[in-house]
Amino acid sequence: MKNILIIIFLLFNSLLYGQNKIKVSSDFPGGNIVVNKVSGDTVWVKPDLSFTSGKWFYWYFKVSGVSNKTVTFKFDQKNVFGKYGPAYSINNDENWKWYGENRIKNNSFSFTFSEKDTVGFFSIAFPYTEKNLDDFLEDLPNKESLIIDTLCFSPENRTIEKIIIPSLNKDPKYKVLITSRHHACEMMASYVLEGIIKSILNDKDLQQLREDVEFMIVPFMDKDGVENGEQGKNRIPRDHNRDYSGDSKHHSTATLRTVVPAWSNNKLRMALDIHCPWISGEGNESIYIVGMSNPKLEREQKVFSQLLEENAVGELKSYHKDFLPFGKSWNTDANYSKGMGFTQWAGSLEGISLATTIEFPYANISGLMVSKDNARIFGQAVAYSIMDYLESLD
Ligand SMILES: [Zn+2]
Repeated sequence: MKNILIIIFLLFNSLLYGQNKIKVSSDFPGGNIVVNKVSGDTVWVKPDLSFTSGKWFYWYFKVSGVSNKTVTFKFDQKNVFGKYGPAYSINNDENWKWYGENRIKNNSFSFTFSEKDTVGFFSIAFPYTEKNLDDFLEDLPNKESLIIDTLCFSPENRTIEKIIIPSLNKDPKYKVLITSRHHACEMMASYVLEGIIKSILNDKDLQQLREDVEFMIVPFMDKDGVENGEQGKNRIPRDHNRDYSGDSKHHSTATLRTVVPAWSNNKLRMALDIHCPWISGEGNESIYIVGMSNPKLEREQKVFSQLLEENAVGELKSYHKDFLPFGKSWNTDANYSKGMGFTQWAGSLEGISLATTIEFPYANISGLMVSKDNARIFGQAVAYSIMDYLESLD
């Protein structure tokens, strides 16, 4: 009898231990991690660089079995944190926060979970996948003004959304194309895009824009990359943002190259592509515009950059002094040796006046923490700048 009791006790203990064992996983939309080792309350991880040439820094994992523990996460790759450390969300609350400045020691951080904490999500910033877009569109005021269409299907048969905002006037005066997530990992761009869309539909002072302009918006150019949690940046065999010359390798870029000239009807004046830069350091912690090699297009970009400075009256500022002219820093011909980018392609379209990238940082903008809300408010500034820019063409 005594022996049986001991066996039951041991079984019960092992079950309990099994339940409370630390487990790191990435088997959910946007998830990305390689687990090198778990020992005691320490885990060794690094970003999954599948389909990526060289190193990049996107990662997003779930950890369970953490109740009442202080877990240390050691990264076996450098440059994987922004200024405010990792972003996290505990117990599926979807309330993402930055862990805070100076939390990273020797490329690792420790996190103390309370007794009621069952699961934690950690990432380089605030993840954004199709579900986030669906939730946003569900709650969007005046959403009935949108036409949610399909650009094409991805290789893994996902819908690549194409959102049309028709002008209130029957015949639009101008058309504007907006894209994001050519680089799957650049999640913070999506919050800016939410702000743009919400403002176009709702801001009282943007009535003229609604009357005159038809928009085409593609929120996820690399949909499979976003859902699979891939870097997307420097993708092998081809980066989506180098896929605009020769035969496009990707469905979304090939389709966009066909659909947009037909849709334009000679009214496309502006094409905007939203990106996020490198994770931290000089030149990566301010909002900026990337100058084009074509001087005529670059002049228009400077006009837009100044309008952004005027309109960015929220917490996050955009300064024209941060404009990155063509020929400076990484913005040279060498950067485009692998193929034409979106803006070069869009800049070559009939009637276009402005084709531009906006770089929006992941974590830190001139000493301020990026949040979902202040990113959306910056999106509002972009919407106002679009209206001001188009008015300057009249
Ligand atoms: Zn990018």
